[in-house]
Amino acid sequence: MTVYFIGAGPGDPDLITVKGAKLVESCPVVLYTGSLVPKAVIDRARPDALVLNSADMDLNEITQVYVNAFEQGQDVARVQTGDLSIYSSLAEQTRRLKALGIDWKVIPGVSSFQAAAAALSQELTIPEQCQTIILSRASGRTPVPEKENLKSLAAHEATLCLFLSATLIRKVVRELEDVYPVTWPVVVVEKASHPEQRIIRGTLADIAEKMHQAGIRSTAMIIISKVFAIEEFADSKLYDPTFSHACRKATVVSDECDNESNNEIVSADQPAIPEHPNEQG
Ligand code: SAH
Repeated sequence: MTVYFIGAGPGDPDLITVKGAKLVESCPVVLYTGSLVPKAVIDRARPDALVLNSADMDLNEITQVYVNAFEQGQDVARVQTGDLSIYSSLAEQTRRLKALGIDWKVIPGVSSFQAAAAALSQELTIPEQCQTIILSRASGRTPVPEKENLKSLAAHEATLCLFLSATLIRKVVRELEDVYPVTWPVVVVEKASHPEQRIIRGTLADIAEKMHQAGIRSTAMIIISKVFAIEEFADSKLYDPTFSHACRKATVVSDECDNESNNEIVSADQPAIPEHPNEQG
């Protein structure tokens, strides 16, 4: 018997992985986060499956569902929003399972920050100008460690994706205004991939008011990033005709540098198809 923690994706029922969907179809017990996982995602469950919504359960009640299934020898599809690596309570659930001797596996999902980027049809990293994405949240009723405060994260000028922060937008703006000019771009995607998805574009100066006007208070990804204002940028190395890597030889000799010595990727100990750091496609 296994509890399968399945990332359901951001909302669109077609954005669950094939692996996750197959498990929802086959498991005799399905426990899903009703507050964020749309019903269409769990409509795949078999007709005789026990389908339970965890929205009004506490951790003890959730654990009891796992214990009951364990005693019956029934696998559980535990379906949660986005991906399980981010704000999913996976840690506390699996701590209980470990203590009980119940096995689990995790099936990844499309996170809402990825769905938000897709909604914007946009890359969140730009060659040479922004090569880091920070996933975080504003500190509110749920505390965030002081060392991860927004100002210190913003100092990197990386793309900053804030989860669980829609109602804290004024506080977010106050903190970031100490680091960035008020013209710094902010884009909010509400309900990315849902039919009712909305996109609000603004700056630190006006985003709080725009969100207030639009009535956005939950299920929103706040992305603070200079990438939204970058117009001029270099091509990446990935498809650069002068750049060789393990999967492709340069077809044009660069006049700036020697390809062999510039090649960060190919070395004697690299596997034939490495997971190389330049892979962006
Ligand atoms: N594990 C999830 C995050 C859960 S925390 C993931 O990987 O996406 C819940 C927060 O995720 C919400 O407050 C919101 O910030 C974000 N979120 C979830 N679904 C979203 C969606 N469809 N569009 C925008 N933000 C979403």
